[in-house]
Amino acid sequence: MNNNKLNYLVLHCTATPEGRPVTKDDIIRWHTNPVHLGGRGWNRPGYADMIYLNGDLVNVIPFNTDDFVDQWEISNGVVGLNGNSRHIVYAGGMDTENKKPKDTRTKEQLEALEVYVKYTIKRHPKILVLGHNEAPNAHGKACPSFNVGEWLRSIGVDDANIYNKQVEDLSAGALAKADKKEDLQTETAETNSTETEA
Ligand SMILES: [Zn+2]
Repeated sequence: MNNNKLNYLVLHCTATPEGRPVTKDDIIRWHTNPVHLGGRGWNRPGYADMIYLNGDLVNVIPFNTDDFVDQWEISNGVVGLNGNSRHIVYAGGMDTENKKPKDTRTKEQLEALEVYVKYTIKRHPKILVLGHNEAPNAHGKACPSFNVGEWLRSIGVDDANIYNKQVEDLSAGALAKADKKEDLQTETAETNSTETEA
């Protein structure tokens, strides 16, 4: 069975106000605390890595460097894609009033995310990079609060690695297939989660 290939790098924001620090511990608490303690009650956090306001890259869920997503590497970023994805989040994504989605990436976060994306592509030359809002199950989310395809092109990422250049090639069928595999994987991996996206 070969349904756990790492196909996607999905970019997220924490959907927190501009300039407010968010840590790995916050993310773990928000996602895995029981619902009655204010968490989402997931068995795993939603992101593999995160980028702090100062550009620091912090690992949330360890992973190896092969082209597969093992059960222990899964992060719950997007319903239906988790078994084939790695999820990276930057702290921010909302305006200071916490009312409107906003690209709040600091200069340091921009640099770190660029290096991260390019390094991930070097490691996994066939990976497709997308924003959470482009995923089939995005449910109208604004995350990560910027146009990922446009930004990727602006930093010189090859079209072959840009998801929204690939939509036609992937075709609905290929995506539906990926979804189905995911759902199966999600069911086994997410024994105590009903919702699995961040
Ligand atoms: Zn997201």
